[in-house]
Amino acid sequence: DRRTDTGGIAVIGLGRFGSHLAESLAALGREVLAIDRDIHQVQKWSSMLDQVAQADATDEAALRQLGLADVPRVMVAIGASVEASVLTVLALVELGIPQIWARATSGQHAKILSSVGAHRVIFPEAETGERLALMIISRTLDFV
Ligand code: ATP
Repeated sequence: DRRTDTGGIAVIGLGRFGSHLAESLAALGREVLAIDRDIHQVQKWSSMLDQVAQADATDEAALRQLGLADVPRVMVAIGASVEASVLTVLALVELGIPQIWARATSGQHAKILSSVGAHRVIFPEAETGERLALMIISRTLDFV
């Protein structure tokens, strides 16, 4: 709905994907709360983003303390660790977040994320690859 659309967004995991997402949302004027457990990532991004916090996102109490229970939409951008991403989604479900988006790195990972309660699962690498393939095909004549 319109309310959640204009509300704040939290991005968990400031790797390549998560940090680009957080920066783009901030550039679009959205209030972004970025979270990473790695203090080096937190330090690196704190000069570029308004709100950056250090926390282990699998820890429900830590998320609650950061005020996450009031954030309408959360993107779990953790990729490499299936365990961390699944436990983070579980903590967000426990907090009652209305819209939980999560990044999957495999079909199995996606199934687990959905079954613990992620509302939307995305595959950035697969989606980018597919889009690029379509772009290349549709621009075939440009190369001639
Ligand atoms: P990318 O492809 O986006 O660079 P990656 O798959 O290489 O990501 P990941 O291991 O998924 O890297 O980590 C992405 C970020 O998520 C890292 O900065 C990492 O510190 C953070 N992260 C991992 N686990 C947690 C956690 N439990 N709580 C908070 N942040 C976490």
